[in-house]
Order: sequence, then C-alpha cells, then structure tokens
Amino acid sequence: MATLIKQDDLIQSIADALQFISYYHPVDYIQAVGKAYEREQSEAAKDALAQILTNSRMCAEGHRPICQDTGAVVVFLKVGMDVRFENKMSLDEMINQGVRQAYLHPDNKLRASMVSPPIGPRKNTSDNTPAIIYTELVTGDKLEIAIAAKGGGSENKSKFTVLNPSDSLVDWVVKTLPTMGAGWCPPGVLGIGLGGTAEKAMLLAKESLMAPIDIHKLQARGAQSYSEELRLEIFDKVNALGIGAQGLGGLTTVVDVKIKEYPTHAASLPVGMIPNCAATRHIEFELDGSGPAILTPPSLDDWPDVTWQASDSSTRVNLDKLTAEEVASWKPGQRLLLNGKLLTGRDAAHKRIQELLESGEGLPKNVDFTNRLIYYVGPVDPVGEEAVGPAGPTTATRMDKFTEMMLSQTGLIGMVGKAERGPVAIESIKRHKAAYLMAVGGAAYLVSQAIRSAKVVAFEEMGMEAIYEFGVVDMPVTVAVDSCGTSVHKTGPAEWQVKIADMTFPPSHNT
Ligand code: SF4
Repeated sequence: MATLIKQDDLIQSIADALQFISYYHPVDYIQAVGKAYEREQSEAAKDALAQILTNSRMCAEGHRPICQDTGAVVVFLKVGMDVRFENKMSLDEMINQGVRQAYLHPDNKLRASMVSPPIGPRKNTSDNTPAIIYTELVTGDKLEIAIAAKGGGSENKSKFTVLNPSDSLVDWVVKTLPTMGAGWCPPGVLGIGLGGTAEKAMLLAKESLMAPIDIHKLQARGAQSYSEELRLEIFDKVNALGIGAQGLGGLTTVVDVKIKEYPTHAASLPVGMIPNCAATRHIEFELDGSGPAILTPPSLDDWPDVTWQASDSSTRVNLDKLTAEEVASWKPGQRLLLNGKLLTGRDAAHKRIQELLESGEGLPKNVDFTNRLIYYVGPVDPVGEEAVGPAGPTTATRMDKFTEMMLSQTGLIGMVGKAERGPVAIESIKRHKAAYLMAVGGAAYLVSQAIRSAKVVAFEEMGMEAIYEFGVVDMPVTVAVDSCGTSVHKTGPAEWQVKIADMTFPPSHNT
C-alpha cells in the first residue's frame, strides 16, 4: 500500500530541519574540529579553531545562526516509488514553503541571501527561496531527505576539470586547492565527484558532502578500494600544504575528504571539487507518513570543552581616535581588539559608492570614512535584545577591485574581512600605508557579541547590504596585511608547509 506524505508534514519537516542546522553543527564535524584544536601547533590557527568551537557552542545554546551567511538551501530527495503526496502543491512548492517558514521564523530569523535574476537586477527574494532541489525516484515507501544550507564563500570556491584518464587526480587536487585561498573558511570537508559527465561530477561532489566524517576510521582500518586509497592520499597531501584554519598556516586544512563516483566515458575523467566550510550545515532524515520528522538535538556534552578568550597580548584599539600612523605601525599577525565606531559595507554598497563618486555626487551625507575602518559584513537581523544578529566577515577579495578607490578617495585607512587579499588590493594597501584585518569566518555569533549598537546610515533599501555604523567593544581581529603589504595568508602557510615536511609523522594521523 502506498505511503501518504501530508503536505504540512513535509513543509514542517523542511522548516524544522533548516532551523535545526542553522544553530547545531553536525556533531561529527564539531568533534573533528575539536581534535584539530587539540593537535594544532600554530598559535594563529589554534586561536581561530577556538573561536569556531566557542561560537558553535554559543549557537547551540542560544539557537542563533552559526554564520551570518545562513546559506543557499540544497535538498536531495529520494522518493520511494510507493510514496504518494497530498497534491495541492507541487513537491518543489512544498520544499520552498518550508524554506520560507524557516528563514522567516520570528525567534531565529535567518538571512535571506538568494537573489533573482542571478544577473542584472539581482533582487533579494526576501525569504531565501528558491531551494536547489534534486529529486530521484527509488524503490520503497519512504521519502529520504538530505538538506544543507551552503554558504556562498565555500560554494564560490568550487572547481571543475576534465582530466585525461591517465592524469593524476591527487596532483590536480594538490595543485588546485591553494588557488582557492581561504575564502571557504577552512577547516572543512573536501567533496570530490568523479565520473559521469560535467554536471554529474559537480552533483556527485555536492552529494558527497552529506556523508558522515569518518577519515580517522578509514586511517585505522586501511583502504579497501582505490577510491579509499585516494581519500587517504589526498587528505594527507592537502593537510601537508600547511594552509591551516582560516588560511593562517597550520596543521589542519581539511577534516575529511569525500569521494563519490559514477561510471564515465572511456575518453574522460570529469572531476568536481566542492569544499564545505566552518559553517558545515546538513542533516538527513526520512518521512514514512506518520508525521513530520523528529529531530533530536545533540547533547552539549558532545562539544569539546574549549572557550575562546582574547589573548593577553592583544592590543586594544580606539577606533574613534584612530590615525593613519597607528594603522601603519601594526605588524602582520598582531591581534587587535577593536573598540568604537566601525562602518560596514560589502559588494552592493561598494558598487553604489563607486557610482556616486564617479557621478560627482559624493558619499551619502551620513557616511564619512575619514580615518575609519570598514567591515565587510552582511549581518543577520537582530532578535530580542540583540543590537545585531550574527555578523561575521565576508570574503574580502570580492572588494579588491574597490580598494584603491576607497583608500584614495574616501579617507578610509583600513578594512576588516575574512581570508586573504589579492595582489591588486595588497598593492593599494601598501601604497596608502593602510592595513587589512581579518576576523574569523564561521564565528559570526561570537563576533556579534562584540557589537553593542548598530544603525543603518546609508542604502537602507539594500537590506543586509546597507551601510551600518556598529559600536564595537573588544572585537577580535588579526592584522592580515600590514602597511608594508606583508600578508599572513602567504607567510603562514609557507612557514607551516616547511614545518610539516620536517615532521616525522603526518599531523593528520596524530589524533
Ligand atoms: S563559514 Fe565562511 S564560507 Fe561558510 S557560510 Fe560562513 S562565511 Fe561563508
């Protein structure tokens, strides 16, 4: 007899699952990061891991999002051929209704990041719909659902190639990974799809990220297939690159490598590679017609006992009296605690500023960047007493092309974002004796605790892309590019790659 899945049960299950993964990391991921924290020897990477772990526990306790980028929703459905649906809505409409309900939840409103159309007006759909949905018909009488909320920073680093069948997959991965920079907020899981055709390889890569983290079990029992051998080899060789947490240089860049395969043409070896980030968010469940999914919250005892604290050696900075001379004195890797007024802006705000400056209109009247820093962020809306919701940094390289304009025409003297800067931005930073500071991607709720006030000062109609003025107290950042153009995202990994090469045992085995 066919199983009947009620429309409301499916919608509720999708909404509940998305709320659940917005604040609960998968336990396997958080424990893998805990192990990485224990063995980490790089001070900078260890500090970043401590922030990620502390943020994770705070989110689990406070039911607030792990990251300000609450992701694009990706859903894999396996529909049993003996399943029937109440058919007032299409399957996709039911999923999207669940997404809408989750992202507009009044107690934990999530950031709507989807824009439509993808080019041109790029208008925010305001409820994070539509989801990206893949549906497969399988035997059976259940509906299996795997659902993820995938951050833009890690998704943007996806790679694809078609290798010659005789080429080395491992060589391609090891060569390609450093080109991804740190905008994918390592450490995470690397998903690799092999075979099929071009689009199939990418889909396999994405689907591979839904599997549990088990590389250390595989290390213990040994490989039993060629693809398991590849997983082990790629895991060791990628971690030996020394990229480390947040690209600061260190022992752990990936906490697992997943491979999903499909037969392919004799002339081809399509390869898709997609990383998962510090905001790894996915859950799997099934519906059998008996009601909505019951999702069991993890125990807080599952979280590693790690609480991040600002280093005693951190320098307190008064942003309200900041001078170009003080910025020029900061050293690469120096930890700072920011206090005072901080302006924000990301892609759309920079583009608008560029248009205003080019038209001769100048900056909006409430916006003065003279001797100020800008924070690249698109925060989650606040709830309750919060000044702002989770508000971690966004990928700074997207603002590289605006950096010369900002430093030469607005009086700005520094920037705060995540991951590395590209050569054009570093050249501008050097030319203007400015600095670039990094905050930890994936520690958004922790960072938001330092933001005590927030008001929109320009471009309100842009929603999360508006320019805010934050009042911050002891906001933790690290000098990532100093006024001489030295970048810790270059020096850190280079130093740790050499150190790891000198170690007797690969660090990834040291669990
Ligand atoms: S952890 Fe980094 S890549 Fe992941 S969603 Fe957050 S900002 Fe984006």
